[in-house]
Amino acid sequence: MESIFTMLIFVALILVVAVPYWWRAERHRREATLKFEKHSKAGLLAPTSLHPHINLADCIGCASCVRICPEDVLGIVGGRATIINGMKCVGHALCADVCPVGAITMGFGAPKQGMEIPYYDASHESNIKGLYIIGELSGVGLIRNAVSQALIAVEHTVKEARRRPANGYDVVIVGAGPAGIAGALACQANGLTYVVLEQDEIGGAVLHYPRQKLVLTSPVELPLYGKLKVSEISKEELLALWKNIINRFNLKLATHQKVESVMKTGDIFVTHSQENDFTSSAVLLAIGRRGSPRKLGVSGEDLPKVMYRLIEAETYQKKKILVVGGGDSAVEAALGLARQPGNAVTISYRRDDFVRLKEKNERLVKEYIEAGKITAVFNSNVREITPGEVIVQEREKILHSLHNDYVFVFAGGELPSELLKKIGVQLREGEPEIQAA
Ligand SMILES: Cc1cc2nc3c(=O)[nH]c(=O)nc-3n(C[C@H](O)[C@H](O)[C@H](O)COP(=O)(O)OP(=O)(O)OC[C@H]3O[C@@H](n4cnc5c(N)ncnc54)[C@H](O)[C@@H]3O)c2cc1C
Repeated sequence: MESIFTMLIFVALILVVAVPYWWRAERHRREATLKFEKHSKAGLLAPTSLHPHINLADCIGCASCVRICPEDVLGIVGGRATIINGMKCVGHALCADVCPVGAITMGFGAPKQGMEIPYYDASHESNIKGLYIIGELSGVGLIRNAVSQALIAVEHTVKEARRRPANGYDVVIVGAGPAGIAGALACQANGLTYVVLEQDEIGGAVLHYPRQKLVLTSPVELPLYGKLKVSEISKEELLALWKNIINRFNLKLATHQKVESVMKTGDIFVTHSQENDFTSSAVLLAIGRRGSPRKLGVSGEDLPKVMYRLIEAETYQKKKILVVGGGDSAVEAALGLARQPGNAVTISYRRDDFVRLKEKNERLVKEYIEAGKITAVFNSNVREITPGEVIVQEREKILHSLHNDYVFVFAGGELPSELLKKIGVQLREGEPEIQAA
């Protein structure tokens, strides 16, 4: 009798613990399956950059990767880890770190995303000897990857001990984003002569993040400077830190030098910018993937009121503004603009809902739309822009003629493939042979 009673208590305890656990897991699985189906239909499963490759034969469906992913990229579908929203992946690789059976490795975007990845080998050297592909141009996102790739490339060129051309440099670096700046530090630390050519201002993609955006990064070792021990830092603080590093080590940077071609004759490279020619024995291409913002191709797009990035939302007050796009950059800009006094902000997005946003942005934009602080026109495209108006077409039939002071376009960026093709860098679509470090 006593043993039956003990057994009943034991079973009851198991039920109290196991049932809620099973119920929660079941709910997560159902939600993951729904998201998988929704995003599969919307064509949003394939990530555009570094992302997890899951070996289904090894995956035990423990969901450690699902729990650790801050971007909600993974879910358990059919008992195995599955990408349920690839467009949100920024390549942090936390999933690969926590997988207890090593079923996750990190790889590149799928060909159907139009990811043309330049060819490069383990030292980041392209098919052209002495010309290196580093940073986001290599198909791999994140600041820490940009830094580590720059160091690998410079280390390789040091090993090759190339002869510096008379009146030239050991290395010309194109692009002053995280990869280019890290490349400059590595060159200087190794006693190489170099110059960094930047078409815009220093900072790369970071310069164009929305104001006060929190940048998440892992601590990285910078040559000369030492360990950059930050994991969360605002955009402004990060830019100030870089400026400080540039001044302290007197890095050789030339801004507003858009590079138009790189030619190799014999062992010498000639990098041609709008202003000058620079000769060198090696070139680091650190031009990122956002070099040229994608245009809408509509009449009036060349008006000065049309912009492709928002830096200071505060500059725009009491204005009628159209934001084009539905990704995180578009939504963050729309939220920033809607917070300014007197602004009337409309978002035009070609899809029927926001489907690839960070959770916080998704929640906020929906709140703003409900509160009437932002107007969203889904299933729409811009047809024409005039000085005082913009014509937005919804579902191929309804035309909205909106009073308008500014248009901000966030339609993504185009791979600077023209420049790469001109240089002769081989591109490949899809999975490269070399995996990210
Ligand atoms: C909104 C947003 C948020 C992000 N958040 C994070 C985050 O929190 N943490 C993180 O680690 N990463 C984040 N990233 C990714 C990170 O910013 C990039 O991976 C990183 O900046 C890549 O560095 P890069 O030097 O390779 O390229 P970029 O930063 O893109 O720099 C390339 C530089 O090359 C210049 N250039 C291009 N073409 C030419 C030319 N022809 N001649 C001369 N110069 C040229 C460009 O003007 C630019 O300055 C984010 C990206 C975005 C867009």
